[in-house]
Amino acid sequence: MQNEVCDVAIIGAGPSGAVAASILVQKGWNVKVFERQHFPRFSIGESLLPHCVEFIEQAGLLEAVEAEGFQFKDGAAFTMDGKYEDIYFPDKSSPGPGTVYQVQREKFDKILIDGAASKGTHVSFGDTVTSFEPTSETADHAELIVKNEAGESRAVRAKFVIDASGFGRVLPRLLDLEAPSDQTKRRSCFKHVTDNITHPDFDRNKILISVHQEDPQIWLWLIPLANGLSSIGVVGVNETIEKAGDTPEARLDYFVKSSGMMADFLKNAVEARPTNEIVGFSANVKNLYGDKYVLLGNAAEFLDPVFSSGVTIAMKSATLAADLIDAQLRGEEVDWQEDFEVELKRGVEAFRSCVNAWYDGLLQRMIFMENRSEDITRHFTAILAGYAWDRKNPIVKDPKRFFRLMDALTKEDA
Ligand code: FAD
Repeated sequence: MQNEVCDVAIIGAGPSGAVAASILVQKGWNVKVFERQHFPRFSIGESLLPHCVEFIEQAGLLEAVEAEGFQFKDGAAFTMDGKYEDIYFPDKSSPGPGTVYQVQREKFDKILIDGAASKGTHVSFGDTVTSFEPTSETADHAELIVKNEAGESRAVRAKFVIDASGFGRVLPRLLDLEAPSDQTKRRSCFKHVTDNITHPDFDRNKILISVHQEDPQIWLWLIPLANGLSSIGVVGVNETIEKAGDTPEARLDYFVKSSGMMADFLKNAVEARPTNEIVGFSANVKNLYGDKYVLLGNAAEFLDPVFSSGVTIAMKSATLAADLIDAQLRGEEVDWQEDFEVELKRGVEAFRSCVNAWYDGLLQRMIFMENRSEDITRHFTAILAGYAWDRKNPIVKDPKRFFRLMDALTKEDA
């Protein structure tokens, strides 16, 4: 077996792996990314949040993303029982960019990893990481086994290993780090359409989230993409979605056709990419880091797609970890607990409280409230725009208190 060496080995070339690689390579480290697929490859997760723009810029990749001509996005719209409400991201309470893009992930992810490669990252595709050995705590490296498509394995020695393998969840599986998610098991069916939308009320610059009329636990997305395409999907409790049809196509079709305003918008849509489905996507882990390794993005925790927070959390984890790995490799003392786990979870908890409030029905009442104060709207808008780590925001500072107050206010409003 051949041996390879590097400073940082990264498992997976999705957004978290690419952002971490790009930052670390620019700090002078020898970085290798191992990706089991070949890019471009499809991925779900197409609606970004404005806070991402800061992470992409920090990685030195913004110019390349902006040059692609992705669909502009300035907010989120919600519809329920014939009511419509939109949230305009630039009206948020936190500082930072107020607009972003909705992206075809096969293009977006390739731009990011090609950008990281152009800065000096070694990226190999068709390489699957199959084993991780932390060696001893006193050793200066960990060891990965990487298998290529010809079935040949090689050992890779790295001073630090980043697991950015998304739902591959390589280190959680290999190191027995898996933990149950606190979220209900849900199912999602989705596809791309050429949307042919001409409806005057449709706002292409916003994701549309539609609460299903029969069951508020079910919601649909309509994410406009560039070139007349849209991504559409449904999310709901596993069994409820399953019962709606025998195939993913039939299930999605049933919910889209009965989605009120969204069905109206999509009446001339033509399928552009077949329906796919994913079941039980929420996941968690016991530890986010350990001896010579850290878990980023979906390899750590995934909550729920309702607020499009996945890529933002993935990139936030990448920027935090890259700075700490750089400091650790330079011989500095690093506090992974405080500066990675506690800091990352601050934002994850803010999103979690919103996801829970959404499925409790409280957030839906808040969105469609008649007399929502301007302050509440600005703080909620900041979270929807991805600024979930801004400690000045009461939703970040004390989510439980904020939603207790909202519960009382929405009941008064009703
Ligand atoms: P990924 O993007 O999944 O990348 C991981 C990479 O690792 C993959 O390329 C994979 O091939 C590779 N890999 C896996 N195993 C191995 C191995 N053994 N060796 C080598 N390589 C490996 N997020 C949003 O921000 N907006 C949305 O609108 C949104 N919608 C969603 C809808 C649904 C239904 C779901 C389930 C999720 C959605 N998400 C959304 C979440 C989003 O898809 C993820 O959070 C995001 O892709 C995570 O990025 P990542 O870098 O952690 O992992």
